[in-house]
Amino acid sequence: MDQKLIDRTKGFLDHEEGMRLYEMAREVATQGPCLEVGSYCGKSALYLGTGCKERAGTLFSVDHHRGSEEQQAGEEYFDPELISPRSLRVDTFPYFREALSLGGLEETVIPLVARSDVAARSWQTPLGLVFIDGGHSYEAALTDYQVWSPHILPGGYLLIHDIFESPADGGQAPYRVYQQAAESEDYLPHPRFKTLGILQRKTSPSD
Ligand code: MG
Repeated sequence: MDQKLIDRTKGFLDHEEGMRLYEMAREVATQGPCLEVGSYCGKSALYLGTGCKERAGTLFSVDHHRGSEEQQAGEEYFDPELISPRSLRVDTFPYFREALSLGGLEETVIPLVARSDVAARSWQTPLGLVFIDGGHSYEAALTDYQVWSPHILPGGYLLIHDIFESPADGGQAPYRVYQQAAESEDYLPHPRFKTLGILQRKTSPSD
């Protein structure tokens, strides 16, 4: 893994959390492809994709690349460098593509440049792992969970980023969705890792 490339790739992912993503992708990649929602500039795809590559697996990475609500001009996570001179809108895709190229992941990571619910509309492939790190409004996070969760294989993982128990530490939408999933019949909750929620799809209803 090219840590210097990861360090200079824009993003909001802690290194230890990234290493956990890498390890989990590596664990499940032979069972089914992995999928992440929220590619941004490619930081998490470098970790997940490297795990997949080491097992000859595949990562689908879904993002419309126009930036989430909180990444627009005037919002908390706006980055003027991400404005495209052509469209004058946020466009993270050139950064994402460059990260994949420099990371040697163009034959492992398949970008889906679309809104998550649109990409999911005719999805049929069972997935070994889904990492939700897209829009952080409750509606966006809930939609991501609802549209991708049915595709996770028994024994596969649902990972949700930015889990903050206290509102003082961060937005509550991913945490609310994580709690819903944890309380559902479908998942066994594992211990959280930093702000990463880890749920494993049950292999039978009695698990
Ligand atoms: Mg995140």
